Amino acid sequence: MKKLLLPLLLFSLKLSAQNAQQIHQRAILIDTHNDVLSTQLITKNDLGKRQSTGNFDLVRAKEGGLDAQIFSIWCGEKYGKGTAFAQANQEIDSLYALIKRNPDKIVLVRNSAELKKAVDQKKLAALIGVEGGHMIEDRMDYIDSLAKRGMRYLTLTWNNSTSWATSARDEVIKKDSLKHLGLTDYGKQIVHHLNELGVMVDVSHVGERTFYDVLATTNKPVIASHSCVYNINPNRRNLKDDQLKALAKNGGVVCVNFYSGFVDSTYAAKVTTFYLKYKTEIDSLGKVYNDADLGFIKTSSLHQAEADKLRPPLSMLIQHIDYIVKLIGIDHVGIGSDFDGSESFPLGMDSVADYPKVTAELLKLNYTEKDIDKILGGNVMRVLKANTGK
Ligand SMILES: [Zn+2]
Repeated sequence: MKKLLLPLLLFSLKLSAQNAQQIHQRAILIDTHNDVLSTQLITKNDLGKRQSTGNFDLVRAKEGGLDAQIFSIWCGEKYGKGTAFAQANQEIDSLYALIKRNPDKIVLVRNSAELKKAVDQKKLAALIGVEGGHMIEDRMDYIDSLAKRGMRYLTLTWNNSTSWATSARDEVIKKDSLKHLGLTDYGKQIVHHLNELGVMVDVSHVGERTFYDVLATTNKPVIASHSCVYNINPNRRNLKDDQLKALAKNGGVVCVNFYSGFVDSTYAAKVTTFYLKYKTEIDSLGKVYNDADLGFIKTSSLHQAEADKLRPPLSMLIQHIDYIVKLIGIDHVGIGSDFDGSESFPLGMDSVADYPKVTAELLKLNYTEKDIDKILGGNVMRVLKANTGK
């Protein structure tokens, strides 16, 4: 009898792994935030081919069952009037070039109908999300132009505030010196304009005041493209319970960020100790690499085994998804990895090839196939459709 138990156990484990893989591949998986375009401008990696660095390429995307990617168009706050919009367009150009080189693997889509068509054709549906209101340089016509090129969400602020919306960082650390708080009248006009154009309003990165001003202004459901749960990790980039409830009332969706620093409340302290230990080494690297690169080398290639110990377990990432489902229901959570935009992710989450592990973890928690469909992409699809009308 005992002899039979082990093969039986192995057989049932194999069956459940097969089941997870099948459910994962059948579902439409939409990741609402990936920063590879801004890093690719520096690395010049050919994303059509498998890469040994970074988190994204079309080969690994296929392996991970990724059906749609919203590519983040991002530049830092040193870009502003006269430079930020141009930088945004340069990144969009690089996405267009990637699509042109790989027409059988990836296609630009602008609504949920086109997204479904791409899935049927077994191509990765590419969408554009512009991360940071500073990239519109306070001009409505720049919004029109970006929307024409495919922008399907605008993250109203990045860490830096704009003249019309305050960011999460500034609402916390510059509280007393802000010229305005929340959305100005012009900010409200921008939200209305985005609604009219069918561009989703992204509330990741905005301050709490801006967040509530947006919900009072928008007539479409919003998206938080890459944020986690504040009650698990009190980081200003994560959403508080009241924000999550308000977002559910709006019909929106919060897409969970994989970044270790947003997932795990102990990560920041651990990483500070790590940096201090290797300060001399990191400082000397800083002379060779620019700031953008430094973030990636800090914990990825330098002292790999030790850096890996800073990473939270995958179960902690799933805890954020599960918390949101229990608080506001199954219809308001999605996936917004922040791959290629952060230096560290939970153990096992090394690239876009690893999404099936999320599905396997959700099955362990007894989520049904229907639930998993919604989490992986169904909820984002609903919000996209509500915004674009198709
Ligand atoms: Zn971001």
